[in-house]
Amino acid sequence: MQVPYFRPSITQADIDQVVAVLRSGWLTTGPRCRAFETAFAAAVGAPHAVALGSCTAALHLSLEAVGVRPGDLVLVPALTFAATAEVVVALGATPVFVDVDPSTLCMDADALAATVDALRHGRPATGLAPPHGPLRAVVPVHYGGVVADVAGLRRVAAGHGLAMVEDCAHAFPAEWRDGPDAPWRAAGDGADVACFSFYANKTITTGEGGMATTARGELADRIRTMSLHGMSHDAYRRYEGGGEWDYEVLAAGYKYNMTDLAAALGLAQLARAAEMRERRRALAQRYTEALSGVEELELPAEPPDRRSSWHLFAVRCRSGRDALIERLRQQGVGTSVHWRPLPMQPYYRDRFGLRSETFPVAAREWQRLVSLPLFPDMTEAEQAYVVRELRSALASPNPS
Ligand SMILES: *Cc1c(COP(=O)(O)O)cnc(C)c1O
Repeated sequence: MQVPYFRPSITQADIDQVVAVLRSGWLTTGPRCRAFETAFAAAVGAPHAVALGSCTAALHLSLEAVGVRPGDLVLVPALTFAATAEVVVALGATPVFVDVDPSTLCMDADALAATVDALRHGRPATGLAPPHGPLRAVVPVHYGGVVADVAGLRRVAAGHGLAMVEDCAHAFPAEWRDGPDAPWRAAGDGADVACFSFYANKTITTGEGGMATTARGELADRIRTMSLHGMSHDAYRRYEGGGEWDYEVLAAGYKYNMTDLAAALGLAQLARAAEMRERRRALAQRYTEALSGVEELELPAEPPDRRSSWHLFAVRCRSGRDALIERLRQQGVGTSVHWRPLPMQPYYRDRFGLRSETFPVAAREWQRLVSLPLFPDMTEAEQAYVVRELRSALASPNPS
């Protein structure tokens, strides 16, 4: 048997929606993008949403919109995907890495407070020597779909006038609350801007795509303008419905818009988001039951006051992670690792002179991480096969 790490869930309805766009005469940003923005904004309870070409584009434009400029400092977790930090570099700013919480693997609020304090007082912080530019923003990541300690992180950010842009690439749909009596809130609610991903293996997909949501209309306007060459009107508004031919270029922007082809798939996937999440939840529960007695593994948990999207099922091995991945590969089981910490990647390590000892939790935990296959259309037989091969690999770690 072969079990891939991920297989996208595509229905006939998804296909029909995309084909309808192909027949409609309008392929790029237009009515489906507008409809997708409206529906997604409603799903996360945000007043504004801007559909974009990727979550990376959303992060880039969000940081630009909240005022990140060359020389600024932006705080990002040490354990994240390349996109979270590369957009900081793209704006001429400096990423400052913050260690993660050992239980959730999300940015640790105490580590954030300590880092900000050191930077404020001109002391070296997380490997970065003074002099430092101004501190501008924090970009937490909701690892695997469990929302970070948003309340704790926001207290630190608000105390120092920092903007909060949340990397919600894993966190749709996901909820959190600030204690058992507080109301549930969607991931990203209350951030200056929240950025979602519809990459092929995310919880809903448009092939490639992303969304920026915000309660601040001026940020939504800036993101929209910058997503299309800094132009005052997009092509749909110029050519359809008696629009004007003329436009103004208000800034040197980017080409980060979503197509209507992608948005049509997004609308169809959004309609199934809750159902697909229930499937992932059931699979995660089954993994938990089947693997809870396995001493060599630590399993991911859903902390109190969190409802995970279950984007990942990332287990931690007590030892022998690399051998386990290789053994599973030989048996036809795909896995992934999220991620080698960015301060340990050659570019960040060499450019900023970073050392892994500065990020003890990320440096220790990443070596134990392996993400198991988890996708809505995974069959019971596929999951049983993964569990059996995993148990067998752990029982005899060194086959002849
Ligand atoms: C996937 C991912 C991104 C980038 O999303 P794209 O839509 O591919 O640009 C950003 N951050 C994290 C944490 C991700 O996992």
